[in-house]
Amino acid sequence: MGAIAAAVQACRKRIAAACAEAGRYAECARLLAVSKTFSAEAIREAHACGLTAFGESYLSEALGKLDALADLPLEWHFIGPLQSNKTRPVAERFAWVHGVEREKIARRLSEQRPATLPPLNVCVQVNVSGEASKHGVPPEQALSLAHLVASLPGLRLRGFMAIPESSTDIATQRIRFSLPRILLEQARAEGLPVDTLSMGMSADLESAILEGSTMVRVGSALFGARHYQEEGELP
Ligand SMILES: *Cc1c(COP(=O)(O)O)cnc(C)c1O
Repeated sequence: MGAIAAAVQACRKRIAAACAEAGRYAECARLLAVSKTFSAEAIREAHACGLTAFGESYLSEALGKLDALADLPLEWHFIGPLQSNKTRPVAERFAWVHGVEREKIARRLSEQRPATLPPLNVCVQVNVSGEASKHGVPPEQALSLAHLVASLPGLRLRGFMAIPESSTDIATQRIRFSLPRILLEQARAEGLPVDTLSMGMSADLESAILEGSTMVRVGSALFGARHYQEEGELP
């Protein structure tokens, strides 16, 4: 078995064990393979292991891979920070955007989504770490942005995404993941048709699943350590 196949199997086991511990059904959390910095060939290998959803953070790098892999039925998720002058290719070529944090970005994505495609699936990114992160809306603004996304014709609101400040302490991880879970419950109570909590990465997917994650975004645990090409390119 190749390295990626073994890693996919190990990761599926971790997800299944966490779902069991949480008392949730075995496939309660989807595995989004985060392929940023990894080659189209690595993605082909992961697809051969049964993975179909891939996450990318850097637009130009991603578009090259979308072209190279156009023969495969892959579902592409844009998970990086998105500048307003770069929304069009995302609206035209991706199925999901996880990091929507501004009304302007949401409106542009909706306007630019081709009418021939289903609405773009969107998660509102919530800043659960306060000063420690510059990305995401403050929790108290997340519901109003969610309502706005839900009202736009080119978008389909799916839920919330969060990248908490990392911690090796399980209790701390869980407290940080509980906030998006509470927001999802509030959104439901307000009548929003949400079904997705995008949270948990290689180091903390178990805690995220225990707090209700429905999609874990896993990169290094599947593909190995990342090597960035240029300085300043870190997410
Ligand atoms: C890179 C990245 C991941 C994957 O992180 P790993 O620790 O390699 O699993 C998940 N989510 C986002 C938004 C990322 O940028």
